[in-house]
Amino acid sequence: MPTVKAYGAPDSKSPIAPISIQRRELHPHDVQVEILYCGVCHSDIHTARNEWGGAVYPVVPGHEIVGKVKAVGTAVTRFTVGQTVGVGVMVDSCRSCSNCKTDYEQYCEEGMTGTYNALERDGSGMRTMGGYSAEIVTDENYVLRINGHENLAGIAPLLCAGITTYSPLRFANVKAGMKVAVVGLGGLGHMAVKFAVAFGAEVTVISTSSSKVQEASRLGAHHFVLAKDPTALESHASSFDIVLDAISADHDYTQYLNLLGLNGKLLVVGLPEHQPKLSPFALIKNRRSIVGSMIGSIKETQEMLDFCHEHNIFAEIETIAISQINEAYERMIKGDIKYRFVIDMSTL
Ligand code: NAP
Ligand code: ZN
Ligand code: ZN
Repeated sequence: MPTVKAYGAPDSKSPIAPISIQRRELHPHDVQVEILYCGVCHSDIHTARNEWGGAVYPVVPGHEIVGKVKAVGTAVTRFTVGQTVGVGVMVDSCRSCSNCKTDYEQYCEEGMTGTYNALERDGSGMRTMGGYSAEIVTDENYVLRINGHENLAGIAPLLCAGITTYSPLRFANVKAGMKVAVVGLGGLGHMAVKFAVAFGAEVTVISTSSSKVQEASRLGAHHFVLAKDPTALESHASSFDIVLDAISADHDYTQYLNLLGLNGKLLVVGLPEHQPKLSPFALIKNRRSIVGSMIGSIKETQEMLDFCHEHNIFAEIETIAISQINEAYERMIKGDIKYRFVIDMSTL
């Protein structure tokens, strides 16, 4: 089995550090990808630090991967050597349950196989290791086609931040005439703004960071509300069709539910460490609902990548060397990034 350079967390308390990992020999349907860029998602931090529980070390994070096909297995039909491809949050699923069969494999009844911190389904007992590495080997059915060669670093975050916000906004049928609020202007939030604007909605950013006012309008948002100002929030009570919550830290959902008008939906994608508090009174008012959403299917991810190509949508990024990863985590926790770190893997 090939040994590959990577960066990973040896345990929940130590910094991310260089390690060597093994990638499997190619199965007939496998694609070997040389990784060019990998985005840094807040889920990488939650997992590396075991904030959700269930981390098995070492953890090699990274699930916003763009690279070039280096080799293909004997039965691969969808990709050829040299092609630019993406790998997102999911690298396998059972492929036979009703959700898998209807292009909802992210909701596989057995649980989808994450790109990192999961057990491979090939019976080898190997753990999946993510994109903070030189190469990855993935079944062709979980590899995405990347259109165009411009700004590949700006495409990498689409593989998680992009699809995770595109999918619920599509599910909620966001369109012209709708009022959408995006709470938490981070990696996911800024993509949500771009998509909601592209779908024609009137978009408001609700953020704890006053430094993001100008930026929000540059992203296309029409309004900005400072989340720390209770009067400002109250003045928007019962006024939105959709509130998309992309906050990474513990917070109260009720103040955002209160912003929804009749039949309004709180789309929850952020995954803080602890269970949120929630008022049933805020929920019954205006017949509001809360909808959770996990990434998107492979089919929908391809649709989203094609949509971004057609509409010239990229993530706003700051490129870093892999050696800066621990500093990048600290800056993300402070909200000091506009809006996604992307690792240039040539620095590995
Ligand atoms: P991120 O880039 O770190 O952005 C999170 C944003 O949350 C920050 O920019 C900040 O926005 C806001 N925030 C942070 N601390 C806050 C606090 N104490 N109170 C209120 N707001 C706060 O994170 P991300 O990569 O976008 O990920 C966001 C969340 O989505 C994470 O929990 C991640 O694990 C989860 N996620 C879920 C899925 C899914 O399938 N559902 C997929 C990927 C990620 P402002 O500065 O604007 O306030
Ligand atoms: Zn992610
Ligand atoms: Zn399944």
